[in-house]
Amino acid sequence: MFKALSVSFKATQPTLFSSTILPNEIARKSNLQFGRISIHQNPKPTSKVTVIKSSIGGNQSFSKGDEEKIQSDLDVSQKYKHLWVQCGNCYGLNYKKSLKSKMNICEQCGFHLKMSSTERIELLIDPGTWEPMDEDMVSLDPIEFHSEEEPYKDRIDSYQRKTGLADAVQTGTGQLQGIPVAIGVMDFLFMGGSMGSVVGEKLTRLIEHATEKSLPLIIVCASGGARMQEGSLSLMQMAKISAALYDYQSNKQLFYVAVLTSPTTGGVTASFGTLGDIIIAEPNAYIAFAGKRVIEQTLNKTVPDGSQEAEYLFQKGLFDQIVPRNLLKSVLSELLMLHAYFPLDQN
Ligand SMILES: [Zn+2]
Repeated sequence: MFKALSVSFKATQPTLFSSTILPNEIARKSNLQFGRISIHQNPKPTSKVTVIKSSIGGNQSFSKGDEEKIQSDLDVSQKYKHLWVQCGNCYGLNYKKSLKSKMNICEQCGFHLKMSSTERIELLIDPGTWEPMDEDMVSLDPIEFHSEEEPYKDRIDSYQRKTGLADAVQTGTGQLQGIPVAIGVMDFLFMGGSMGSVVGEKLTRLIEHATEKSLPLIIVCASGGARMQEGSLSLMQMAKISAALYDYQSNKQLFYVAVLTSPTTGGVTASFGTLGDIIIAEPNAYIAFAGKRVIEQTLNKTVPDGSQEAEYLFQKGLFDQIVPRNLLKSVLSELLMLHAYFPLDQN
């Protein structure tokens, strides 16, 4: 059983990335690149030239002058790339500086772009009240996983440098509109938010701390599922967290809200993601167990478009609410007050 599961997790990640690409996106992308407004994550200008060539069928139709012009256009877009973020839904450009104040919601179409865990904490927790827990817990590569490209330890190191985090979750306590809460926020930018032993242990300790102090608990999920580099130790985290939650919710009768953001998949959906007393999803969030391609390859059936999106799943009863990001903090504080958790200054 474990073997089968870990295979499906392995395959989940690539599908996850590609499933957010719409059918006409590739065509539009190459048009955008040609039309010089490309702001891609794709690092090297030279690789883009290759894409453009192949998308119009060979390089004969380009003179040397054309190529130089494209190259200089690409240099310009590279030069200003740090100023803009392209929306994955409408391809509109958002000015990076103002995007943060708009909670990473696309100005043109209202699409909810990804947020880092630190931005989430700033969004939900009152300034100056955040107290992190277990900040320097790191993975020890328990099964000595060595892939062909890069040893697991080196991968962790490079993500640590890139994100400034020790692993894919931040946990701690703080105040949400004056109400003390225990909160865990996953970060998709750290190895796709994958859940290894560190994520599992940090969340378990957070839940145990919340149980001890009778604090309400909020976990913001964003994950590609269990971390294959830690094998079945990753899968065991599902049981460990669920057991801690059982004690918190059933024995102590305390209140847990799960917030599912795009994407939430695999072992996270299958454990604490869907164990909330209240489950909230963000609009258009991609929420699934196995990715679309994995299901299609395994079952030989087509998965209808949109069937792994929050709106469709809400119709089927998977969540209690879909809450836009700009309302999230006030909805959470209202829910907490309804469950008899009040701001500190009101006694
Ligand atoms: Zn947009």
